[in-house]
Amino acid sequence: MDTPKNKKPARKTGGKGKPGFGSPMSPISKIANAIFILIIVSVLYSVVFSGGSGNEQISISQVASDVNAGLVSKIDVSGDNLTVTYATSSTSTAPAMKDSKKEEGVALTTTLANYKVDPAKLDKVDITIESDTGFTYWFVNLAPFVIPLIVIGIFAWLLMRQMKGAGMQAMTFGQSKARIILPTDKKQRVTFADVAGAKEAKEELAEVVDFLRNPKKFLDIGAKIPKGILLMGAPGTGKTLLARAVAGEAGVAFFSISGSEFVEMFVGVGASRVRDLFKMAKSAAPAIIFIDEIDAVGRIRGGGVGGGNDEREQTLNQILVEMDGFEQNEKVIVMAATNRPDVLDTALLRPGRFDRRVIIDLPDRNDREAILKVHSKEKPFAEDVNLRVIAERTPGFSGADLYSLMNEGAILAAREGRVKVSQFDLIRSIEKVMMGPERKSHILSKKEKEITAYHEAGHALVSSVLPHADPVHKVSIIARGRAGGYTLHLPFEDKRLQSRKEFLDDIAVSLGGYVAEKTVFGDITTGPSNDLSVATALARDMVTKYGMSEKFGPVALEGEGGRAMFGKGVEDKEYSDKVNADIDAEVEKIMNTNMKRAEAVITEHKKALDAIAKRLIETETIEREEFEKILVANGITPKKKEEEK
Ligand code: ADP
Ligand code: ZN
Ligand code: MG
Repeated sequence: MDTPKNKKPARKTGGKGKPGFGSPMSPISKIANAIFILIIVSVLYSVVFSGGSGNEQISISQVASDVNAGLVSKIDVSGDNLTVTYATSSTSTAPAMKDSKKEEGVALTTTLANYKVDPAKLDKVDITIESDTGFTYWFVNLAPFVIPLIVIGIFAWLLMRQMKGAGMQAMTFGQSKARIILPTDKKQRVTFADVAGAKEAKEELAEVVDFLRNPKKFLDIGAKIPKGILLMGAPGTGKTLLARAVAGEAGVAFFSISGSEFVEMFVGVGASRVRDLFKMAKSAAPAIIFIDEIDAVGRIRGGGVGGGNDEREQTLNQILVEMDGFEQNEKVIVMAATNRPDVLDTALLRPGRFDRRVIIDLPDRNDREAILKVHSKEKPFAEDVNLRVIAERTPGFSGADLYSLMNEGAILAAREGRVKVSQFDLIRSIEKVMMGPERKSHILSKKEKEITAYHEAGHALVSSVLPHADPVHKVSIIARGRAGGYTLHLPFEDKRLQSRKEFLDDIAVSLGGYVAEKTVFGDITTGPSNDLSVATALARDMVTKYGMSEKFGPVALEGEGGRAMFGKGVEDKEYSDKVNADIDAEVEKIMNTNMKRAEAVITEHKKALDAIAKRLIETETIEREEFEKILVANGITPKKKEEEK
């Protein structure tokens, strides 16, 4: 029973598949077709030309006795096939011809001798032996050798093609596993036009594009160009996309590898991969090396539980060595991406390494609309589609989320047999992307349904009454993803900063479900456990990170990343037991105060709570309009957007 808010799992989008066996008219399938036709033709050939002459088939013993009887004038031998021509009889002018077979691999004369043919009689028969040169003969005899050869040939050719296509993929351990996109590869080319929003980031990177396009201009004037650029931003904000766009705009080769790919089972592999990667990039210069998820290798060294990871350290060292070894005129720029800049080793951030940092924020409303537009290109829309409304309803969505929203919308439309994507499809997809698909099959017992309804009504009511909480857009007791029900409350505007009062109200809202269950049923279920952990974590952050507690005042007790298990955060300190106990006491105080506030709201507006819960049990889902009517009916003024006031 979550109260989801600006929090969704990041979605990864898969790469585009390479043309393979299945794709239409690839060279491979052409060859396969050719072989198939060849086989058909030869089978037809053999049917038509061997033994298909239409003559009567007789046994070899019959032939022997006919020879003895002096009836046979001529025998043609072709392989093991015999064509027996009979002497012209008195009744017909044309000589009768019959077919037969001799024993395989044995001379005709020997065969006939075995059948006790009189040699004197045989002398009178004209025997011609044709050497078998028919296509079938050759095909049958050579096929066992030739066909495997052809198959092996195709296989080898395929393998080579793959290696080229996938960018000289590794055959051995040491070689880099980098994927390469060459500037000539128009299909994979991404430009700044494909990246919506992210204006500042694009401006920063335009300079790099300029350098890669025209290095001489910069080098002549003695300008120093950054060697390393670190892209920082939440998952799915388009870091990989931007890096590719830089290469695409500049028209240079793009080598990409993920930090985790460096780390393999054997120590030393990562370092040699780095060496290899840089060597390849230098020989292809101008080029961009892109190291995705660099935090996988670039975490703070030393310390950590269970000793350091040698492999990681060696890899990181090698990256640093390579970057230091760069000459200015090498025309290779290293870009890296991370969503955990806080855990990066400071050595990476020193001048001459990743000293240029580009921050990519989650898109704001306008950017979201632009991203939706980019991804709506090949989708036919119904007239009612309004991307602006969708953008308004999706604060906290990343570019990747918006991409999957669009995709889900199209899937919904297709599944329901429509040819156009409608606004309703998109709206339903928002919730699907946020919280996973609805689980309608999740049947609640009557009692469970009642508890869930009161629980969600509790969240919704507290959120509507407290002044700094976000307005409710939707309440539902239909299970979704892992949540048993949900209350969708979203801010009207995007927020960059959150205030102490907002945090406190958020905590009270999270506790709303818990309090409602306790007040109405006098008992507590396991339902609110996630609510409690979310609220507690927030309260703890207020105390230790944001300086929002009375006891500690403006002191950051923890770094951005919190107390990391592996590779300690820079500002992390060991707390004394006393400080730990004080923190716990502060957190407890915040939690209790806000539970009291939630209780006050629920007690005061018990009638509204009942009304919401009752309606939820009836219809399972309440949308904003109807929800606000219930509020008004119970004397609560709904929150309004600035422009609606
Ligand atoms: P990251 O590397 O930051 O995790 P990606 O670059 O892999 O994110 O983004 C994933 C997908 O999300 C992209 O392939 C693209 O389809 C979409 N996307 C993300 N940001 C944007 C954007 N600003 N404009 C258009 N599409 C975007
Ligand atoms: Zn809840
Ligand atoms: Mg990425």
